[in-house]
Amino acid sequence: MPKRITVTIEVPDDFESFDDLEQFVQLTGQQVKRKLCGQLGSEMAQRAPTGCCPKCESPNMVGHGSTTRTMKTIFGDVELPHPRQRCKECRHTFFV
Ligand SMILES: [Zn+2]
Repeated sequence: MPKRITVTIEVPDDFESFDDLEQFVQLTGQQVKRKLCGQLGSEMAQRAPTGCCPKCESPNMVGHGSTTRTMKTIFGDVELPHPRQRCKECRHTFFV
């Protein structure tokens, strides 16, 4: 089911020129794109299939923390979570 994401943007009310306004819209648009990409990318990472242990091929996995990684996008760098899992059989840990 599609979801709705609301973005609130604080907009100055004292642009001195249309060029200033245009620059603000450009920068804000890029920020919104990165934020949306980060939010949706984070949700996608959380839904990532667990698969099997790359060492012993057991499907018996458990979450084992997360780090972040920087993804290069067409609108700039976006920080995304990089979840890690641990195999309950051989205790091998690996990034998903
Ligand atoms: Zn294993």
